[in-house]
Amino acid sequence: MDAIAVLNAGSSSIKFSLFALGGEALDLELRGQVEGIYTAPRFIGRDALGKTLAEERWPEGTKLGHASALDHIIAFVRERLAGRRLAGIGHRVVHGGMEYTQPVRMNAAALDALEKFVPLAPLHQPHNLAPIRLLLERLPELPQVACFDTSFHRSNPEIAQMFALPAALHDEGVRRYGFHGLSYEYVASQLPSLDARAAQGRTVVLHLGNGSSMCALSAGKSVASTMGFTAVDGLPMGTRCGALDPGVVLYLMDRHGMDVRAVEKLIYNQSGLLGVSGISSDMRALLASSEPRAKLAVDLYLYRIGRELGSLAAALEGLDALVFTAGIGENSAVLRERVCRHAAWLGVELDPGANAAGSPRISTAASRVSAWVVATNEELMIARHTAEFVRPTTRRKQ
Ligand code: ADP
Repeated sequence: MDAIAVLNAGSSSIKFSLFALGGEALDLELRGQVEGIYTAPRFIGRDALGKTLAEERWPEGTKLGHASALDHIIAFVRERLAGRRLAGIGHRVVHGGMEYTQPVRMNAAALDALEKFVPLAPLHQPHNLAPIRLLLERLPELPQVACFDTSFHRSNPEIAQMFALPAALHDEGVRRYGFHGLSYEYVASQLPSLDARAAQGRTVVLHLGNGSSMCALSAGKSVASTMGFTAVDGLPMGTRCGALDPGVVLYLMDRHGMDVRAVEKLIYNQSGLLGVSGISSDMRALLASSEPRAKLAVDLYLYRIGRELGSLAAALEGLDALVFTAGIGENSAVLRERVCRHAAWLGVELDPGANAAGSPRISTAASRVSAWVVATNEELMIARHTAEFVRPTTRRKQ
């Protein structure tokens, strides 16, 4: 049986998964990662149930590099393929600009086009593209497909993608792009099997993880989201500040003498849950802490979710369903309960028992707005997209 590999390459880690491609089905076989690529590299490969199949550590201070990390993954996957064909590789790529409303089969020209978006996502895009370039050189015949975090939001009305800035900047690409699109696309794909009203109606999906955002879906299509030009906008996150008056940046530069890099570090790495609490970026640690600052960070996170929910409900002109996903959304009954309680004015009535059990529907039968928990699966979404390019029967645009 052929297989599809999925790669998610970041600045310090490369995550991978392997799916068996059988007819319509895609079954997870392997997943793993190399992390700490430039500090203390560690490789781990697991089976679909999470059992460790292979593990390797390099001494602290080893600078393994992305190319060697990729080699390691390829060797592991090759061994497990045991002669089966790797039909294609799907890559998570953060930015597809305005042009890429769909995944794209990679070649040298497409790679050059995607390089243009590096200034829009300098911390992620170069790392996402590096393995594509490397594999195009080494295995030119192997189909590679780039899947973007931005594409799903290209269905937003033009006005939802605008800043009130001079037109020339808009034309240059200073727009609201939105992110976490592969997660929202996956969740939207699950809604029809859960609830016709949530699938066809006005639904807000809350992707609450280390990175957090929210997306308004109208009949399964994105019409607005909390992230904008970059993934630092919207909700507070583990270490990112979320929406910030741009005047604060001016003040920091003017009064604190901070330059671009210093501001970048502050708003991406030192803010959010970590910055407010001074304790941790990890929601579990904050919920377990009795420190007032930990409570304050959680309160602020929830307050911002409540405000953004009102804003997205306004964009949708009403609300039929809420869906929780990602690390916090899938696992924290406490957080879900507090979000739903704040949203009572919109017609959300939580079923505490169902919420504690984390069952798909967590609202009462009588609730005017239904609430759901759906486990996201960005890797599967990428594998599905990649399969569309390599399955002979459903071959589409190349
Ligand atoms: P990433 O954006 O890195 O993919 P995840 O979606 O894995 O992040 O989410 C990580 C977040 O989920 C962390 O803040 C973690 O504390 C939180 N989380 C995971 N399990 C729970 C839980 N049971 N209760 C509260 N928070 C949780």
